[in-house]
Amino acid sequence: MSIKLKTLTALILIAAVIMMSACTETTRRTETNVSESIKIPVIMYHGLTESEKLRNTYMIPPSLFENDLKYLQEQGYTTIFVSELVDHFKKGKKLPEKPVILSFDDGYLNNYTYAFPLLKKYKSKAVISPIGLAADQAEDEKYRSPKWSQCKWGELREMYYSGLVEIENHTYSLHKNDSYVQGAAKRADESDEDYEKRLRADLKQSNDRITKLIGRKPCAFVYPFGAKSKNTESIVRSMGFSAIMDCENKMNIISSEEDLFHLHRFLRDDKKTLEEIIVIENQN
Ligand SMILES: [Zn+2]
Repeated sequence: MSIKLKTLTALILIAAVIMMSACTETTRRTETNVSESIKIPVIMYHGLTESEKLRNTYMIPPSLFENDLKYLQEQGYTTIFVSELVDHFKKGKKLPEKPVILSFDDGYLNNYTYAFPLLKKYKSKAVISPIGLAADQAEDEKYRSPKWSQCKWGELREMYYSGLVEIENHTYSLHKNDSYVQGAAKRADESDEDYEKRLRADLKQSNDRITKLIGRKPCAFVYPFGAKSKNTESIVRSMGFSAIMDCENKMNIISSEEDLFHLHRFLRDDKKTLEEIIVIENQN
């Protein structure tokens, strides 16, 4: 082999080694992106009302919600859907630098009246989890009242098609909280088998309505009142849900798909500013 050829071979070998190490570096970096833990606040809203009389822990003025949207934008947060968080951990899809999830429970008509125009104004996203039965009943005029009614399917669909709202599962008819029934939790008088059958049937009914009337199968389940029993999570998971939202007032540090089944949410009442909720609660 001539000296020139030897030099050329050596150069090719060096180039190959550099390329291989560059590839390894790229692979490592991509993996790190997905395996890095994500800090993400999830804010829990219910209804919005202009009426002082109707105002309570679960019914806050639209102006407070607008302040929240402004505050989040000023602080560099980007609103995302639960499905985007799921896709990040399952498919490696990129997330914005400071993600936040805004979730609305129960599917109140006032979400459509007040929250939806503000979401459009601030180009922000929200997750709405309606009670299936209430959305069915809202089709009947006798259940229509701006004060307490829930959204009809058409209104939920319109919000979903705007690209700013995702619809998730909050049970079909288990949204009750009394001495006999506490949301999706097991009743005292039923066996494990009967409970599983009842929960599965209800969640399936809600999923079927949402899939048929909205056009997308929910990826998340939201516990009504945060109520659950020892088997609830495993039943929900076995039905193919990729995420579960609860009512624990905590920040989320998510490192894996497993953590998606325990997404905690800060209750947004009218007692504090969102800054106090996110920053101060986070320090406790
Ligand atoms: Zn609820």
